Amino acid sequence: MIIHSDWHMHSEASYDASLTLDDIAAGAARFGFRKMGVTDHVNFNDRKFMANLEKSAESVNAYKKKFPDIVSGVELTPIAKAEFDYIAGTGTRDGYIPAGSMKNDGIELGSTKENLIRLGVQYAIGAAHWRLDVTNDDPSAFDLRDSINEWYRLQMWLANDERVTILGHPWWNSKGLWYEDFSVIPHSMHMDIAAALKENGKYVECNSHFFRSNKATEKFKHQYAEFLRELFEMGVPVTFGSDSHFEYVGYHLKVEDYLLAAGFKDGDISELDERVLW
Ligand SMILES: [Zn+2]
Ligand SMILES: [Zn+2]
Repeated sequence: MIIHSDWHMHSEASYDASLTLDDIAAGAARFGFRKMGVTDHVNFNDRKFMANLEKSAESVNAYKKKFPDIVSGVELTPIAKAEFDYIAGTGTRDGYIPAGSMKNDGIELGSTKENLIRLGVQYAIGAAHWRLDVTNDDPSAFDLRDSINEWYRLQMWLANDERVTILGHPWWNSKGLWYEDFSVIPHSMHMDIAAALKENGKYVECNSHFFRSNKATEKFKHQYAEFLRELFEMGVPVTFGSDSHFEYVGYHLKVEDYLLAAGFKDGDISELDERVLW
């Protein structure tokens, strides 16, 4: 066993999950995990997401009495600065219309660090979930080359943002655009992201999604584990994230085989220690 903690999961406080904190504590006991980090989503700076996060952080911190090894985190996703500003002005996403060309828009995250700390959140996963340079209903939104370039832009931005503790599920893609052969992504992009993460003292996540996805080929799974190994060898620490939403069933068991094949040994997968927690 080389995975001893899990820093990415969603609780019932999240709009898209039903895990209870009791499920999480039971999962930790069952699999012998030392730490469990709950990272409910903040996609936008609107009231709905702020209320969810408040509930998440409050319940996780209260649960420490029962299970001291639970940690409150958050999963932040890059959004367009223009949309962030609109929501900041109106309190809601309702009525927001993206500008015709979004190519050069700035990027933001749904919460300031001060706000996260005030709520009792102790770390943030920063993870890209969709393109910001085109809208999702644009047919070009799933163009391979443009998608790679946009994911690279978003991930480089996250690797340099001071709120991000862990770069979450690098190169995740809802359509699995490069899940057949990961080598379609230029190697230099991985090196740039790794250099930025290392420079800024950030972690990279090994997310179980890639190893569970039925869109991903065996070849891809091995390539992905090797990609994580290369970052690790460059000095970027790797954390594990099950990204559990509904049940806690030990997604790491499958992941470990790929990590071992890529050269990971016991002691190589990191925990977030007190020095990096807020
Ligand atoms: Zn995610
Ligand atoms: Zn997640």
